[in-house]
Parts: sequence; C-alpha cells; structure tokens
Amino acid sequence: MNKLYITIAVMLAWLSAPLALQAAAPCVPTKKCEPPPCEFFEQIKMKQAVMRLFSKPKVRQQLIRKAGGDNAKAALLLNEFVEKKAAELGKKLRCPWKNPLPPPGFETNPSCEIVAKLSTGNETMSRESALRKLDTCSEFIEAAYDHEQVHKDICFKTNSLERANEGITVYAAEERAGYTKELASLRASLQRFWDSCSAESSAETARQVAAAGISVLKSKTPKSNARNARSVRGN
Ligand SMILES: [Zn+2]
Repeated sequence: MNKLYITIAVMLAWLSAPLALQAAAPCVPTKKCEPPPCEFFEQIKMKQAVMRLFSKPKVRQQLIRKAGGDNAKAALLLNEFVEKKAAELGKKLRCPWKNPLPPPGFETNPSCEIVAKLSTGNETMSRESALRKLDTCSEFIEAAYDHEQVHKDICFKTNSLERANEGITVYAAEERAGYTKELASLRASLQRFWDSCSAESSAETARQVAAAGISVLKSKTPKSNARNARSVRGN
C-alpha cells in the first residue's frame, strides 16, 4: 500500500448506487427560497466530522506509538482510522440519499490526476466531466474538486518518494486543508441562499443553517440587507 491520498472525500461511497449518467444539478435553490434538501446539510455535517478526525493530536500520538515511531506508517494508520470512522458515521445517516444521490469518493492518483471512485471502477475525471456525468448535487462536485485541488497542487510540487514517506502530521495537515476548502465551498452556497432567504425561512431551516457553520444572527438592519441581497440577484 503506497498511496495515502485515498481521500476520505469518499465518505458516502458505501452508499453509492450505480450513478446514472445524468448531469449534476444545483441542490441549493437560487431562484426560489426553498430550503436546501436534508442531504445538503448532512453532507456538511459529515465533512465537518471527518475533518475533526484529522484534527486530534491525541489520535496522532497514539498512532505514532502504534507504528513504533515510524511516522510514515503512522500516516497510513491515520488514513485507515479515518476511513473506518467515516464508515461508522455513514451508518448513522438520517437523510434518504435517493434524490439527491450521494456523490462518489474522489482521490488524487500518483500522476496528480483526480479520479472518481465509481461502483463501476475508478475513472479519471475533470471537474467539467464530473459535473456532466455524476447525478448528484453540483455543489458536492464543485466542493470535492476544490478539496482534491489541494492534493493536486501538492502532488505537482512534491516528488513521489517524498510523498510516500510523508509523516502523519504533514498528511493530517494536507487533509485538513482539503476539508477546509471543501467546507468553504459548500458553505458559500448556503451563505448565498441565506443572504437572500433568511427572512422567508423557518426556524428549523435557521437551525440547520447555523449548524452548518453560517451565522444566522440578525444584523441591525435585516430589511435593508434582504433588499440588498435581492437587488444583487436582480429580482
Ligand atoms: Zn483529501
């Protein structure tokens, strides 16, 4: 086993029904103020949870000990640890994940290409073809490619031997950087929704938006904000 970047953007992969060859579509409405589907919030929650797994110094210490002080081996153990925990989280999903379907996992291969892990096998895929071919929320694809771009950039800058021997701390930091980008992308879509729709949203939606990391505190001039947001959108 020489590859580390079996990116745990694979989190929902165990659910993945064969993906229909149908284009991705936005799940966060941009024209109407309908709340995003349950799955959109759940995806953010899962990504937050996985990122936390990469953020625990105690876990890293334990794994370094378990690897007998071999830092590169500890990185592999962290990879295994996160995949196992992510699979456990996957058993606790609350949304149906039928519509939208879950996105596949992605990884960045040693040639620095982004690969979609489909039920039919791995397929090298550009962002554009992923958006064209994968029947899921387009926001999930955009966010996953933002995550993989972190690995791709580092892959181009580092030689493969260096990368194979990368220690646990460097590995964890790289994954955290990936999840930070991925979450920022997902939250940006939600922020756009909230900026235009907070006034029309239910308390339940506000609660979900807040749990996803968006501030729902009313500013001092909520009405003028809502008006500004509407005029930006041109309606
Ligand atoms: Zn990653």
